[in-house]
Amino acid sequence: MNKKRKDIYDKSNGKCFYCGCELGEKGWHADHFHPIIRINDYEIKDHKLIGKDTGKRVHPDLDCDENLVPSCAPCNLFKTTYSIDFLRKEITAQFERVRAKSSGFKMLERMGLITCHENKPVKFWFEKKGIVMPSKSELMNLHPDSEVIKWKPDDDCVYCEVNDRVCTLRMVNNNWLCIATGKDWIQDRIEFDCCYEGDAKIKAANWCLNGFNAK
Ligand SMILES: [Zn+2]
Repeated sequence: MNKKRKDIYDKSNGKCFYCGCELGEKGWHADHFHPIIRINDYEIKDHKLIGKDTGKRVHPDLDCDENLVPSCAPCNLFKTTYSIDFLRKEITAQFERVRAKSSGFKMLERMGLITCHENKPVKFWFEKKGIVMPSKSELMNLHPDSEVIKWKPDDDCVYCEVNDRVCTLRMVNNNWLCIATGKDWIQDRIEFDCCYEGDAKIKAANWCLNGFNAK
């Protein structure tokens, strides 16, 4: 194991960061806790972003040692480009998926040979151990409240109120456009090419919190 991999491995003393299984020396993955893969070819359908993963990296700031954690291969492959909260939802959604697809699972359930804990919250190994990961805004060097700002949905955009201005965020020509309007109707605007709505919200909030100055 080289030094870089050893440092990642030691973050959990050789356990999978998510399920907690023993990893052993080989075959484990170094996972980006906050995902860095971008989908590049995308379009909006029914207010949802539909896209193809081209593997191109976005957020060079997130491609750093602080964001790498040891994971078993199955957890890493299941997680793909999910955020930790989306991963939690996807795991919870497995009950219905497995029930719909596996007659064996339904049989075992009917016979009382397996018990499902559907209302039990998904708790990852690192959470049980009290490990706190740096937030995305910390790693991206953004204002600490960038992820706290709540965006509310409107007709064709989302909006928030920051620093006495109403800020709207919408996708225009495959870029995210944020317009901040003050009480005096003075407007400032900025565009971001990040394609995940969540990322655009964080960056737009950072811009608003920093007084509408492009860094
Ligand atoms: Zn695992």
